[in-house]
Amino acid sequence: MTVRPSTADVVVVGGGPAGSAVAWHLATAGAAVTLVHDHRDRWRPVGQQLSAAARPLLQTMGVLDAVTAESVPVHEARSAWVGPEIDSRPAIISPYGPPLAVERPRLDVLLRTTAQDAGAHLVRGHARAFGGTHRDKATAQRPAGDSWIVEDTSGTHHRAGLLVDATGSSRAVSRTVLPWTCHDRLRCAVWKATPADPAPQAWSLVEAVPDGWWYTAPAPGAEVDRLTVMRVGDLSGTNEIPGPPVHTARRLGRPLPTAADYRIATIGHASPPWAPRLITVGDAAVAVDPLSSSGLHNALRLAEPAAAAALALLDGDTGPAHRYAQKVHAIADDHLNQRRHYLKLTGASDPFWTRHNRPVAGPGVLHPVRHR
Ligand SMILES: Cc1cc2nc3c(=O)[nH]c(=O)nc-3n(C[C@H](O)[C@H](O)[C@H](O)COP(=O)(O)OP(=O)(O)OC[C@H]3O[C@@H](n4cnc5c(N)ncnc54)[C@H](O)[C@@H]3O)c2cc1C
Repeated sequence: MTVRPSTADVVVVGGGPAGSAVAWHLATAGAAVTLVHDHRDRWRPVGQQLSAAARPLLQTMGVLDAVTAESVPVHEARSAWVGPEIDSRPAIISPYGPPLAVERPRLDVLLRTTAQDAGAHLVRGHARAFGGTHRDKATAQRPAGDSWIVEDTSGTHHRAGLLVDATGSSRAVSRTVLPWTCHDRLRCAVWKATPADPAPQAWSLVEAVPDGWWYTAPAPGAEVDRLTVMRVGDLSGTNEIPGPPVHTARRLGRPLPTAADYRIATIGHASPPWAPRLITVGDAAVAVDPLSSSGLHNALRLAEPAAAAALALLDGDTGPAHRYAQKVHAIADDHLNQRRHYLKLTGASDPFWTRHNRPVAGPGVLHPVRHR
């Protein structure tokens, strides 16, 4: 194994939206940053909805035009949630314009490239959790005096004063170090499908069913007439998914392919989201319900305060890290309040809804279903 030590102030692990954005902020501030990304294809080319509030953040990073050019605006949010009829909310009420349906792999490449252009050093590698049984393994990142060592796929060791865990809900770096409160977990089946009507459909649709909900929205990319379809349900569900409900079925016009991609959506947060020489960002800090379409925005808006906290920690100043923790907790609390509201709105009393719509212990604090 070749070992060529390289030194960075900060190593960011995970090149998704959060990792790329925090690497961009750090590099722009003049820090030596290495971004370790494993290039595993976790997000298939289906759409996700990027909140319009993220536009100014993308503008700051100089990537808004490129992202917009590859996205589809979602002008209207339709839902059959409170009852069987469709309710409609136009995007015109947002001062930022419509949300964007983005193709995740493309968004991630654009953001990583922007971080590289700002000076972040991108390397291929899959970092493993440290601590516990992993502590002795040569390929795990491990503490070495006042710094961390992360080994990438080529065997190069990267020494850093601080690590940023931006590995999403896997929390590959921080899971054995920082306490995590998990409020809920949902199983999501995802397809890309052709709509019945070939005309452009710049609207999303959410439809509640007794055991979960369905989501459809335009899927960006070369195939402009495609839809992203997602069915959200319990973890215990089998792969035998009942057919979509009435409005979704009408939009699709034909049966879905039997094979779907499956993802687990975790709703939870790290508390606190930092430790000496370690900061979490994005889903590794706070992960929200996909229904809120706010995970990408959170990843981007936490990047700047996370970078500021990282730089201050390198100087031994914990003030910005404490303020960062307050932001993370505020986002988690706010999200749980909103989630409690929209889950209750269905008025459904089926087991799925009573299980996921638990009583609250206090303002914004749901009873955690699992601690890890
Ligand atoms: C089914 C589903 C649908 C969703 N829909 C939406 C939506 O419409 N709108 C929205 O805003 N949010 C949505 N979300 C949430 C959104 O996907 C996340 O909030 C967002 O991806 C968080 O970005 P991140 O950078 O923190 O993590 P991720 O996007 O998970 O990125 C982490 C990156 O780190 C890399 N990585 C992981 N482990 C390692 C390692 N050990 N070493 C090196 N690299 C590693 C991974 O390859 C990955 O690219 C959805 C989530 C789910 C599960």
